[in-house]
Amino acid sequence: MDFSAFDTPRPDIDADTAELIALEQYGIEGKAQPLAGERDRNFKITAQSDVYALKVGNAGDRLDSLEAQVGAMAHALRRDPGLPIPAVVRTRDDRLTTQHRGHGIQLVSFIEGASPRSMTSMPGLRRSIGTLAGRMSRSLRGYDHPSLHRAFPWNLGRAVELTPLLEFVDPALQPLIEAVLTRMADDVIPQLEGMPKQALHGDLNLDNMVVDLADSERIVGLFDFGDMHYGPRVYELAVAAAYQCSGSEPAAAIAQVASAFHVVQPLESPEIDLLPDLVAARAAQSILMASRSSERHPDNNYYLTGDRGLMIETLQRLAGSDRAESVLRIRKACGAGSVRSRSLEEALDLRRRRLGPALSLSYDDPVRLERGDGVWLYEESGSRLLDAYNNVPHIGHAHPQVVSAVASQTGRLSTNTRYLVDEVAEYADRLAGLLPDPLGVVMFVNSGSEANDLAYQIAATVTGAPGVITTDNAYHGMTLATTAMSPEEYPETAWSSQAARIGGAALLASGSAAEQLGSEMTRASSELSERGTAAGMAIFDTVFSSEGIFELPEGFLRSARDWADANGALLVADEIQAGFGRVGPSFWGFANDSVVPDIVTLGKPMGNGYPMGAVVTTPEIAAEFASKWHFFSTFAGSPVAAAAGDAVLDVIEAEALPQNALAVGEYLRAAVRQLDRPAVVDVRGPGLFIGIELADADSAADVVNRLRRRGILIGRSGPKANVLKIRPPLVFTNQHADIVLAALAEALS
Ligand code: PMP
Repeated sequence: MDFSAFDTPRPDIDADTAELIALEQYGIEGKAQPLAGERDRNFKITAQSDVYALKVGNAGDRLDSLEAQVGAMAHALRRDPGLPIPAVVRTRDDRLTTQHRGHGIQLVSFIEGASPRSMTSMPGLRRSIGTLAGRMSRSLRGYDHPSLHRAFPWNLGRAVELTPLLEFVDPALQPLIEAVLTRMADDVIPQLEGMPKQALHGDLNLDNMVVDLADSERIVGLFDFGDMHYGPRVYELAVAAAYQCSGSEPAAAIAQVASAFHVVQPLESPEIDLLPDLVAARAAQSILMASRSSERHPDNNYYLTGDRGLMIETLQRLAGSDRAESVLRIRKACGAGSVRSRSLEEALDLRRRRLGPALSLSYDDPVRLERGDGVWLYEESGSRLLDAYNNVPHIGHAHPQVVSAVASQTGRLSTNTRYLVDEVAEYADRLAGLLPDPLGVVMFVNSGSEANDLAYQIAATVTGAPGVITTDNAYHGMTLATTAMSPEEYPETAWSSQAARIGGAALLASGSAAEQLGSEMTRASSELSERGTAAGMAIFDTVFSSEGIFELPEGFLRSARDWADANGALLVADEIQAGFGRVGPSFWGFANDSVVPDIVTLGKPMGNGYPMGAVVTTPEIAAEFASKWHFFSTFAGSPVAAAAGDAVLDVIEAEALPQNALAVGEYLRAAVRQLDRPAVVDVRGPGLFIGIELADADSAADVVNRLRRRGILIGRSGPKANVLKIRPPLVFTNQHADIVLAALAEALS
């Protein structure tokens, strides 16, 4: 271990000499005032218009370590120009560092601010420190210098080598410190072997930063790069967190710092898990270093032992807390997942009790999930399932473009729509561009149900007629108005009284042929007028997903359009299932019929899992509605939703997903037909929405459960629940289809 810089006295330089150095080397005339320091001499130089900090390095430090520091500062500022670190001032002859009688010299801008010392237990400050540590870490990536690899005592990885210093420490503390160092040597260091390493500032303690005088949670300056070294990146966080544990449970404080760090510079779970040990090691290291130095340099005792009490408290509290609990708490704060220890029965029981019996679970053998990736879902047990059912992860589970768009927008701004945030309107503009004229006004909501509910409010308000016409096994949502348009889900008599509450809904037979549609609609509307009401809207799920999955019959929407126009009703296309390219190559389910609806409702795949929906209508209808009614929904159309939706559109376009939906859908349908299984009555559906009709509900349920046991998720549809529903994310390929086919071939035998 190289203690030379710690054993060599601080440079014997006074304020007059500092002023002389500033003048001769930098051409700056100013007044010098001494600043604190561990082993260097630092001065504040106040010149006519600017203020600087002059560092005179310890004669025992490598001369090139100053070079490493200024190089690192410049590198970090290039990568993150807003980083609150000092700017390096060049000498008169344009060098970044210089020397004075064997001491390295560095001049940087002086950052004014208040010391955060008195605010150590403020959560806001802890988060600011975590963010700053994360930014520091991120901006130093890719930087290196030979002097960063010296045998430096403040390197956390070398704390174990400080064991001989125990003789300087209060005997009462020795066993505690020894235990921490032993764990570090035996368990922690070996685990750090394969973890990411990089250049580190290495000393985000409260003496090295200043906060805004008027906003004590805003760090405006981080300085002193004198402890820089190279090591595991998690050290940056561990060191910063170690100085934040005063006045609360260390795990709570570490969690606050770590969660903010993790947003900026995501860590892997094994790095997070070592934080309690690393913070304890930093405390031990600090106590050892301070005891040794204060013995050798009693003149600088105040500075050297300033953190002693805090470090002892941190060490003792950590020793007294349950390590596993601490790790869980920190992991949870970082969103890094928890380690569950519930049996399946316990998990089922907890769900039943707390989520209630109204919510059913899919499959005889319930799916207990941990994560998703593309078309795959991963169970707790580690086994993976091919997702051929879910349409919300439209572009694949956990798509990185959506994840990062949502994360970065959440980290920047999430508000309601009563403010001007350009990205929201830009996204609406992009969406409107994907729909035919005159559909051009986008009203954001949070779900498909809300979209249809709002469509209903618009239709009822604009036409004055409260009734609805829809198909006889439709599903359009779970709000009061939309349940009345959703006979699929509810017991018939209960549903009828629900429908009556909104003025009545009249139903068309599923699969009505286009030619009969006009007369069917007339029959349905006269049913309504017999009840003394009238239809203000007709709404269709353009892929008939709950009806058993049909392609929109040619001319169907044309007939509906004609009927609506003749009867003063609005035509609503529910694109919550069909939209965003599923029925490829078209972007929308209604698009193949060359008819423009009055209202289009969107949901499910729109945000790839981020909850959002929308109603798109014409400027004329939107204006009429606004003149009679009011609309606002707090979360709807937030900048985060817009970021998610925009990322989804980017991926759909970049990966030509509507074309893929058509190709893979056709492939799968043709292959199922070729299986030529007698159990199969019909194979149908548009794009990547495949319906396979079987004789009855029991055999369909049996196939669904068999596939689940083989690791493939599909579902059922139709009034008789006898239609297999295959509706995977649009990133499904023929290879994935082959996996489904092989399982179907067996299950249908
Ligand atoms: N319309 C259709 C066609 C749907 O399939 C659904 C959801 N299954 C909804 C509306 C309601 O959407 P959400 O569940 O997001 O409220």
